[in-house]
Amino acid sequence: MVCWPLPVIPEMSERQQGFMAPNLSPKGLRLIPHELAEGVYGLMANKLPKDNNGLVVGDRAALVIDSGITPDVGRYIQEVVATLTDRPVLYLANTTFHGDHTFGNAAFGDDVTVISSRLNKASMTDLEEEKEYRSESMYGDPGFAGVTRWRTPDLVFDRYCELDLGGREVQLWHFGPGNGSGDTIVHVPDAKVAWVGNFLRHPGIPPMLLAGDPVGYARSLRSLRATLAPETLVPGHGPLTDADAALTYMLGYVERIGLDVAERRLAGMDLQATMADLPLADPLDLTTVVAEPEPGEPERFARLMRSNHELNVLLTYRWLEATSPVRGPARHA
Ligand SMILES: [Zn+2]
Repeated sequence: MVCWPLPVIPEMSERQQGFMAPNLSPKGLRLIPHELAEGVYGLMANKLPKDNNGLVVGDRAALVIDSGITPDVGRYIQEVVATLTDRPVLYLANTTFHGDHTFGNAAFGDDVTVISSRLNKASMTDLEEEKEYRSESMYGDPGFAGVTRWRTPDLVFDRYCELDLGGREVQLWHFGPGNGSGDTIVHVPDAKVAWVGNFLRHPGIPPMLLAGDPVGYARSLRSLRATLAPETLVPGHGPLTDADAALTYMLGYVERIGLDVAERRLAGMDLQATMADLPLADPLDLTTVVAEPEPGEPERFARLMRSNHELNVLLTYRWLEATSPVRGPARHA
């Protein structure tokens, strides 16, 4: 018998002029634990948009969500975890294959089972290329010198996987393509909390459509909404958020951008004109979620949001070029 797996959809590497990479460097990173239910912690980065992590504790074992951008961050996460529980960390979930969520995997012991979707693991083949992609997010930090091995998941699943931590169930889901082709959701049903990696964000923070496909992204979001009922989401980047509000925002965003770009392209607008014609609507104002931002930080954050959005217009335009030829008038023989 031969079973054909779904293929990895490679992420698009093109960036618009003036693209601003998010600053994900470990410099100054602190993870602040937020207890969302008993034994369920969002480990929230002190500075946006650096990576958030998570911890779920059961009677028997603990699970960590994402491992940081370097092995040093991976070790730091384990130090923070040790202040919160004495249960052994036996599982580590990766919400995406991106290096800022997986380069720390190597710092976890051999007794830890790393779990993710099969498509995420299938994307973890070229460490040097991935370091190259993420290096612009390091802002000069030399931490990638310590990234010499890309530890890939030990356990993979296609759609669904369930873990018993002892009196606590954790579900891992893959609903289809989103930010990347293998986006993984970590759901704790009894706490109504889900870690969503790069798949969902706080309303007003646009995603990055790195796979380029807003139609597939919308389908995956609807699938999540039809399957799970979390109340709180811990995004891979940015503040904690209400699940309903985040889903409504993201669905609206990806559906709108798909329609808006397609309409303009069909009307004959080129890429530059399309970008100029589609500014980002209702971006999150940083001062509404960060009490005392550093001078210049709200403006930098606003620029980052605009840059994400321009990238999404570009990649949606390219995706349409590749998948939807613009037809001329029907010809009859
Ligand atoms: Zn990330």
